[in-house]
Amino acid sequence: MITDKSIKEIHLGLRKKEFSCEELIKETYGNIEKYDSRINSAITIVDKKTVLDKARQTDNGKKEFDLLTGMPFVLKDVYVTRGIRTTCASNVLADYIPQYDATVYKKLLDLGALLIGKMNQDAWGHGGSTENTDFGPTHNPWDLKRVAGGSSGGPAAAISGRMTVFAIGEDTGGSIRNPAAWCNITGLKVTCGRVSRYGAIAYASSFDTIGPMGKSAEDCAVILERIAGKDPYDATSSPASVPKYTSFLNKPLKGRKIALPKDLLGKGLDVEIKNAILKAVNKFAEIGAEIEEVTMPIFDYGLAVYYVIAPCETSSNLARYDGIRYGFDRSKFTEETIRRIMIGTYALSAGYYDAFYRKAQKARTLFIKAYQDILSKYDAILMPVNPTPPTVIGELMSDPLQNLLADFYTVTQNPVGVPSLAVPCGFTKDKLPIGMQLIGKMFTEELLLNIGHQYQQVTEWHKQKPDIIS
Ligand code: GLN
Repeated sequence: MITDKSIKEIHLGLRKKEFSCEELIKETYGNIEKYDSRINSAITIVDKKTVLDKARQTDNGKKEFDLLTGMPFVLKDVYVTRGIRTTCASNVLADYIPQYDATVYKKLLDLGALLIGKMNQDAWGHGGSTENTDFGPTHNPWDLKRVAGGSSGGPAAAISGRMTVFAIGEDTGGSIRNPAAWCNITGLKVTCGRVSRYGAIAYASSFDTIGPMGKSAEDCAVILERIAGKDPYDATSSPASVPKYTSFLNKPLKGRKIALPKDLLGKGLDVEIKNAILKAVNKFAEIGAEIEEVTMPIFDYGLAVYYVIAPCETSSNLARYDGIRYGFDRSKFTEETIRRIMIGTYALSAGYYDAFYRKAQKARTLFIKAYQDILSKYDAILMPVNPTPPTVIGELMSDPLQNLLADFYTVTQNPVGVPSLAVPCGFTKDKLPIGMQLIGKMFTEELLLNIGHQYQQVTEWHKQKPDIIS
């Protein structure tokens, strides 16, 4: 399949006319037609004829084109797209047709990339399994009984199912990394401020990040180079210059120092995942990195901090949809979202603010210090993405607390702001994907992508695709 190839390979194939953009787009839509009735990765598919017309224009275009020109991509349905329905997977916005484009989408459009679909997710980003959606759960292409992860489950499953070449996800507390790991793709949670959030429907504004999802670290580097940077429409976007991420990929890892928090590999972690992480450690040692054990006892407080601050911020962000000021219908919120709005408004109210919200913010500062401490001595921290393999659909829906525990490894990086790259690193004996994450200092995406790419040069995990996708 053309969609098995990397972005660079597809680009070269298009330039050398080994295949046309029309064929690429036909293959993409063909896979959607074959597989998506079982996977349910998409909420809205862009009209095929319109995209094929654009593909033909790409084929006939004489101009030099960019690596992403003619490249099919999908967006988590959290990004506003002018004239194309944007739901955030909630019935509250089921008929919302935006009047403007999110910056990340606009940048990709300007390069001639082709939007294929707006993808399923947990509504408003609330969840880690893409079950908390009003559009039916997304099924994991590796085992259709199981969840794809979340909240960017639709985009991850679509890449895994070859229904797109790449995707743009959103990560507030793991939403890119968790489904990336469970669907065997690569996903990058960027440094806070690295990519403009303009036009991304806000969940928890101080945690939200916009990032690439693809089949490899190299693909993520190609995408990030093109979507990062200062945006006049987002005052929180960073003016820091955007490195040419792809030019760092081939640097040898010799002398790079990676920290392994040994205390996080104990209780609650699936043994097969632990073993896959330890194998990855050996691989890194083989290719020249130095691995040292550290401890991060502060992780005991991670979920508590995250699940106070995130609901506070979401209760404020979602106030515009609660029907008090504008004409939305609050009865359309799901139970999970109502729970979060209630917790948030409670923790922010007079009398409870100091006990919960302020305390959580103080603990957040301790997390910043803990990460700074380790990252001043190491280039990256290596840890699992998920404590368990993907769960069976429905299994945790009746147990919200257990559901939140699944976020143990991914909720502390967002309050701190640091970047983290999720990379496939093995399979369970039942052939369910396992992922690890590499966490770095603020604005060191080039280093994480370099480490991820070097690992992918000596491993084949990321090249595997689900049995049902032939
Ligand atoms: N699972 C986490 C939550 O429910 C993270 C979601 C996200 O990153 N959008 O809040």
